[in-house]
Amino acid sequence: MKAFLIKNGLLVSPANGYRRTKKDVLVRDGKIARVEDEINEDLPVVDASGCIVTPGLIDIHTHCYPKAFLGLEPDVLGIQRGTTTILDAGSSGADTYEDFRTNYIDKCKTKVFTLLNVSREGLLVGHELDSMEKIDVDALKETLEKYPDNIVGLKARASASVVGQMGLKPIELAAKLAAETGKPLMVHVGNYPPALTEVLKLLGKNDIVTHAYHGKKGGILTEEGGIIPEATEARKRGVLFDIGHGVASFSLRVFEKAMAAGFDCDLISTDLHVENYEGPVYNLAAVLSKLINCGETLENAIHKCTCAPARHYGLDGLGEIKEGYVADFNLMELVPCEEIVEDSIGDTITLKEKLVLKKTIYSRGDESEVFEHNS
Ligand SMILES: [Zn+2]
Repeated sequence: MKAFLIKNGLLVSPANGYRRTKKDVLVRDGKIARVEDEINEDLPVVDASGCIVTPGLIDIHTHCYPKAFLGLEPDVLGIQRGTTTILDAGSSGADTYEDFRTNYIDKCKTKVFTLLNVSREGLLVGHELDSMEKIDVDALKETLEKYPDNIVGLKARASASVVGQMGLKPIELAAKLAAETGKPLMVHVGNYPPALTEVLKLLGKNDIVTHAYHGKKGGILTEEGGIIPEATEARKRGVLFDIGHGVASFSLRVFEKAMAAGFDCDLISTDLHVENYEGPVYNLAAVLSKLINCGETLENAIHKCTCAPARHYGLDGLGEIKEGYVADFNLMELVPCEEIVEDSIGDTITLKEKLVLKKTIYSRGDESEVFEHNS
């Protein structure tokens, strides 16, 4: 479609002043042309009655390089799951990025950006940082310089199974490379060693801790249920804390305690891959539903997976409902329910309301399409 209206929906995009605000949107040539109380023109209408209308959701932690460990096709994790923009978090490294780019990123409908693994092999086999020889500084810098349009950050996994005997060393180098190249580093945190307290000390402004609310030993909570001082200090320096739900990395109880201690997340992502896309993660909307039922407001939750990541990673034209921006939207219903869902470690919560995906509108160039979700 070249021109159409989205009518009767409640816009949610706090950065643009919309907090379930009834407005119509006129889309023309793949861009948002007008946002007004009521727009009546002789154009096709996408009816958003009963729905909230958000900017196209952005998931900063997925694994969408099918040749890598756990990877799935970008459109399976993107548009088919109601997310118009996804970041691949470290599936590719300097040795494999070009294959990922040519054969997947450039061929799918979902907008895909890359966090390049500091390990040259990426996630081909796992334990990608168990030898310092796997970090090729020159190849990494060359790849970053060649593809600044698509590689928006770096990724390193800081947990025992990945770094082996190397401990903190590869993460130290990753943090140094991030500072030198100006690309934010996303660090996966998990099982000791290395210790989270030591990893946090390496991170600076704009770096991201993903899996921040995991339920493993040595997480962000103290024995008493407060927040470890290293995490509070890191946040003061501008380090951001991301959900990264995953198959073993999100604990409802840890998140609830962190919320009670005033340590809410900054960003919301799924860590979708082959082992969790059919549960317990499913899609970003399902993760949002859990957080909303833990006390996150709908408006903040949407902000943290639209405008916040777009601004953080400089994704121009994405993540807001604003004239001139790309016409990517999600239409979702917020429905009352009584439904028990699980986190990554088998703990549960009873959802009192949940987000249900109805339509995803995505635009490339001057064309827009509507993907209908059957739910
Ligand atoms: Zn991951």
